[in-house]
Amino acid sequence: PWKHPYRAEIYYERPGDLCLITAEDESGTETIGERLFSEAGKSLEGYEARGVRFEPRVCLIRCPEDLQTAEDNIALGHKFQIIAKGAQSVRASDLVHTKDFAVEVHIEDILDRAIRDEHIEVFYQPIYDLHSESFHSAEALARIIDPEYGPISPGVFIPAAEKQGFIIPIGDAVLEQVFRFLAKNDPDALGLNYVDVNLSVAQCMERSLPEKIGALQKKYGVDPSRIMLEITETIFENIIDVMLENVSKLIDMGYSFALDDYGIGYSSIQRINHIPLKIVKIDKSMLDAVSSENGKTILEHTVRMMQSIGKQIVVEGAETADEVALLQDMHCECIQGFYYSYPLPADRFTRFMERMNAKE
Ligand code: C2E
Ligand code: MG
Ligand code: MG
Repeated sequence: PWKHPYRAEIYYERPGDLCLITAEDESGTETIGERLFSEAGKSLEGYEARGVRFEPRVCLIRCPEDLQTAEDNIALGHKFQIIAKGAQSVRASDLVHTKDFAVEVHIEDILDRAIRDEHIEVFYQPIYDLHSESFHSAEALARIIDPEYGPISPGVFIPAAEKQGFIIPIGDAVLEQVFRFLAKNDPDALGLNYVDVNLSVAQCMERSLPEKIGALQKKYGVDPSRIMLEITETIFENIIDVMLENVSKLIDMGYSFALDDYGIGYSSIQRINHIPLKIVKIDKSMLDAVSSENGKTILEHTVRMMQSIGKQIVVEGAETADEVALLQDMHCECIQGFYYSYPLPADRFTRFMERMNAKE
């Protein structure tokens, strides 16, 4: 859309992506990158005034040095979005050789391997109960430790697994491990009332979910009251009969549900009322917003409103003593956050619980 002063050809790739090919030498390329970035911004100013936002991202690719393999080439084309916002101009060579990029490119292999070789490990993050002044529950969080790429964050592999159809086997592996953990350890001796397990939308839509969970219950002899199933509001976006059937079957079987990540997305009390939820977990972003006076009021009233309709509250993501003190003032019931503990591998988690909940 803008006039370029270089000897170059422009190719249109897809909405938002233009490719400009020049025969400049290396020193020239850097300058072109910078100028393109600023000119792209300028020529779009008219649109911004009408409320349309643009984020120009310029990526410099030296061919053929930067992209050694066809795989790198295709991957880079599809991964333009991972170029950080506001980065002036990025060199493909810097991008392609980072761990994040490699993980994104190979995520399918990583997931495949994790499922096949059982590299999915469940960590447990203790949750503190302010009333009993003890760690009364924990959230099960999936981890992949890949033999080649090391630990992969669920923030990366869960969305990829959801997109690429791996979330069901991953969810199954997590459920199995949590049941096994509860069978192997005496939860009462640890002071552990229940474990939260995250369910993704695809799992909730699976017709056989209640039978699967029922089979695990039988195999491991675990009481359903020991498991709290976490769902997010995305479930309400495509609510279908089978989900509601699954939820009510599981509730009849004795399982309870918690709403995760409340406060991001389009939180609506009306929708929440569709499903009998025992717990509402308030997202970290609401806690992070308390530095503003409105943010504090919103959190305080959200907590009070949820409590007044009979929900228990867990606030996620408390990292400091000040945050904990504030939540205490607001009469929150439970807190989950790095202030108390990071998610821990099963053996360290049991030791943590034994130590922290020991009655002297
Ligand atoms: P979530 O269910 O909301 O889990 C809480 C996340 O917040 C965890 O991130 C936890 O490590 C992090 N967290 C807890 N306290 C703090 C804190 O004080 N500060 C900060 N910065 N973070 C804190 P994690 O383990 O990386 O998991 C990210 C998300 O991935 C989870 O968010 C959940 O949506 C998804 N996930 C993890 N395991 C599973 C799983 O087994 N199944 C499904 N479907 N999703 C999962
Ligand atoms: Mg959760
Ligand atoms: Mg959450």
